Formats: sequence, structure tokens, C-alpha cells
Amino acid sequence: MSASSLRDHFPIFKHNTAPHPWVYFDSAATSHKPQSVIAAVERFYCSQNANVHRSSHSVSAAATQAFEQARLCIKGFINAASEKEIIWTKGATESINLVANILAKGHFTPGDEIVLSTLEHHANIVPWQQIADELGLKIRVIPVDEQGVIQLERGLSLINNKTALVAIGQVSNALGNINPIGPFISRAKKFGALTLIDGAQAVAHLPVDVQALDCDFYLFSGHKLFGPTGIGVLYGKQALLSALPLYQSGGEMIEKVSFSGSTFQGLPFKYEAGTPNIAGVLGLAAAVQFIQHHRLEIEQQELTLYQQLLGGLQKIVGVQLWGERENSICIQSFTVDGLNNQDVGIILNKQNFAVRVGHHCAMPLMQALKLDGTLRVSLSCYNTHEEVARFLQALSQSIVTVRKGAEVVADIPVRESALLNVGAAMEIPGRAPLAASLRLAKAWDETYRQIMLAGKQLNKLPVEDRIDQYQVFGCESQVWLKCEIHHNQLQLSADSPSKIVRGLLAIMFEPLSNMPLQRIRHFDLQGYLEELGLAKHLSQSRGNGLLAVVEKIKGSCP
Ligand code: PMP
Repeated sequence: MSASSLRDHFPIFKHNTAPHPWVYFDSAATSHKPQSVIAAVERFYCSQNANVHRSSHSVSAAATQAFEQARLCIKGFINAASEKEIIWTKGATESINLVANILAKGHFTPGDEIVLSTLEHHANIVPWQQIADELGLKIRVIPVDEQGVIQLERGLSLINNKTALVAIGQVSNALGNINPIGPFISRAKKFGALTLIDGAQAVAHLPVDVQALDCDFYLFSGHKLFGPTGIGVLYGKQALLSALPLYQSGGEMIEKVSFSGSTFQGLPFKYEAGTPNIAGVLGLAAAVQFIQHHRLEIEQQELTLYQQLLGGLQKIVGVQLWGERENSICIQSFTVDGLNNQDVGIILNKQNFAVRVGHHCAMPLMQALKLDGTLRVSLSCYNTHEEVARFLQALSQSIVTVRKGAEVVADIPVRESALLNVGAAMEIPGRAPLAASLRLAKAWDETYRQIMLAGKQLNKLPVEDRIDQYQVFGCESQVWLKCEIHHNQLQLSADSPSKIVRGLLAIMFEPLSNMPLQRIRHFDLQGYLEELGLAKHLSQSRGNGLLAVVEKIKGSCP
């Protein structure tokens, strides 16, 4: 099957047509769904809908049969020894929380150590931190080198007879690195520690054999491997799961209930309280069948796309690549010398490239690399070489645009840039200067220029105030904000490494700084952005970031 016919399986591309087709390079966040998955979900609701394991009537029996067949499908997909080892969850996050929760009930003793890697997704950090705090455990962190690659020997040396658990990702979602999980599992076993492998980014790209890996737990989400959202898998060795305590309780997982006590089902139902996501399970099985059926073409397409991407990125002056290149799935993180990721990302977004910007839920990794984030391209088999070529060209152009934007502003002294805006404002009497300039801007190019100019007028927070106390969380780019009230007047100062964000802050501060204090909590950010014609240019998460700033301002007013 050719690459183009692989893409034909994904109906989303039929709706993604000229004049502004999207290029979707964010498959590590969630993948698109092939028709067979959509059909499986639809078929369930249209013709099979019934609860599972509940009733002797034949509609339920048919649903139950399809549901249990799906479990067998997953068993085969990861080569589990038994279908009893396959537990349905909501996704990778719930799978990890489930294991953390049941291990917390007796597996650990105070002083035990949990070994994680610097590369972990927050989902494989925070649940362990929670129980470590609760139970007096110590978290030890496998270090990475300056590229973000695991330092194997140093990492292995952290595992010793105090280690109770080693929990690592098979593939880094931020960098794409395929981690050396084999040696970690072997060493953990030597010291009697349990092993948990987060396979969220691996299963869509690499064949997985849990028996060959010999890990105790393995988990993933359905939505990253062409399946529906809200469904995931936890694999656990049967002997282990049988001996571990309950997670949630309620219907479905019981054998017998009376007010004098209850008895519980065996595996896998012991860990599946309540009505499961039946349609999700059936959709996930269809996704797995899609992969199994097209494995070779998928691998081939992803490899050649990735090579093209790497080759092209390496030729763009100023682009720094992060993570492994040889030993990687088709994810590439990069930064551009001297430019803010967000500034580049916004320009790419304007050209309809969906790439991810930020810390990718891997803040400790970003801290280790001394980065505030990266731009991340994550490819999938439905992408095309033409898309990659267009992206490389767009990226080169975006870099020129951002550099030029910076030059435009640098060339204009502060007072002059203010005058430019004031001049424009005077054409609409009574309007605030920055807002008026934006209202006059028709196309994105002019809007962008005005945002850059506005940034010049931001009341900048002194560098020494760029501290946690003033940081606003919830923005893709770092933002620090200080709100002071003097003589019943709000005084705002802020900063961000992103020039675009600095401009947006200045634009937003203009009405807020001129408003009576008691009106500030009624300020409607979305309305204001729409009125200025900015809302259509800003992604939701950027909007959310500004919202976080506005919320902080509102919170500081009486
Ligand atoms: N682990 C990794 C490596 C991931 O990439 C993700 C999702 N980005 C998760 C865990 C959490 O997955 P979910 O949000 O589907 O639960």
C-alpha cells in the first residue's frame, strides 16, 4: 500500500482542504483516527449498544463478546501471557495512578526509593511524588546529557537494594528518544524492584512484547495510537496484580455483596469497577488491528518522513535539534538561536502548521536542558513528504519574519514607537493608542507589526523581579506579572521572553491600567480581543495564557 493510500484511511483529511489546509504535526499529543476506528465506535452505538457482563440477554452477550474479543486483541498486540493481565483504564495517566494507588497500600516501606528518569512526562512523575510525600519515599532521577539522552551507566547505578520501583518511559514524548529500558528492567529485577514502563509514545511506532521486556507493568493510552480518547490499557503480570489490593470498588468488580461484607472478582475485572468505556474499547481494538495490518507501510512512511524532516532542519541556520536522531521515533524537538519558541510557533500557526510549543509536560527535562521549552514536530504515517517540504520552507520564512519583527522594533526608539501608535490613535478620537492601531490593522502582517510595536511600550518588570512569586502559570510562554495599586490606580508591569506575548500584554494592560479599580473584575478579555480583531489570530491556549494573566490581575484588585 502506498503512503497516500494510508492517508486515505483518515477521513479528517477529506475535510481539510484548500484554501487553508492544516498540516497536522502534533500526533504525539493525539493521533487522527482511521475510518475503521470511527466505524467501530459508530457500529457499537448504532447496532450493538448494551452494557457488558451484566445480563443474560443476547444483546448484552454480543456486546460482551466483542468487548472481551478486544481484550484478546490487546493481549496479542503487546504479547501478554494472559488476557487477565489487560486492564482497561481511561488512559496512560489513569493507568499510572492506578498502579501508584495500589502499590501505596503496602508495597513500600519508608525510605524506599523510586527511580524515574529526567525525561518523564508529568503523568509519570506527579503520582509518584504524591505517594513519596505520603509514605516517606525517596525519588531518584536518572540524569540525561546535554542533548537530553539518558546517561545509562549513571542511571543504572541509582538502582540498588533500596529501590522499590523503577518507572520510566519507553519513548520520550518531548524528544522522541527511545530509552534503553532493557538494562533498567534487568537491573531492577536483580535488586527485586518492580518495573513500570510508560509506553504512551511507543506503542504507535514500535512493536512491543511485554514478556520479552519482562517488565511488571506496561501502559498506554488509546488516543495516541489511532484509537479513541478516554480509553487506555494497563498491563500487569498476573501473579502480581492478583496479589495487589483493590483500586476502585463498586459494581462489576464484585462477586458477592452483603452488608456483612463483599467478595471480589478475579482479574481483570477486579480493577474494572463500574461501566467501562465500551465503545472506546472496541475503537481501540480497531486501531490496533489497523496498525497490525499496515505495520510495515507505517514504519516505512514514518522513517522516510522523519529523515526528510531531520535533513531539512539541519540545513536551516540557527536551528538547534534536541534529543536523539538515530534512536528516535518520528518526533523532533528544536529551538532557534536567539528566537523565542512561542514567537516562531505563532507565526507557524498563522500558516496553518499545527506544531507543539512549550515544555510538553516535561518541565524537569526542560530545566535539565536549561530551556523554557522547544518547538516539537511529531509526525505520523498519514503525513506526506509534501507537507514536510512545505513546513521546512515555512519555518525558514517564519524565522526571517520573527527576526525582521525584532529588527523593526529595535530600529524604532521607544518614544517613536509610542508616537506611531498615538498617531494612529488620533485618527479615532477617544480611543486608546494601542487598541486604535490594532483596529486599523487589516491583515495579519500589519497586526503582527503592531503587536511587536506594542511590546516596546510594555511597562517592563525589572529583571530581579522575574521570580516565582510573579510568574503566571497557565501560559505557554513564561510570563511574570506584578500588580500594584497606587492612589487607587492599578499599576502593571510584566515581562516575557516572547516578543509577541510582550506586545499582547501591553495591549491588554492599556484598558486595565486606565479603568477604575472596581470595574477591573468585569473586564471581558475575549470580548476585547474580538473587538480588536485579535481573537482570530490567537490559538486557544495562547488565549488561555492571557486569561491566566487577567485572572491574576483581577485577583489583585479589591
Ligand atoms: N506519558 C507520556 C509519555 C505521554 O506522552 C502522555 C501524553 N502526552 C502521557 C503519559 C499521558 O497520557 P494521557 O494524557 O493520554 O493519559
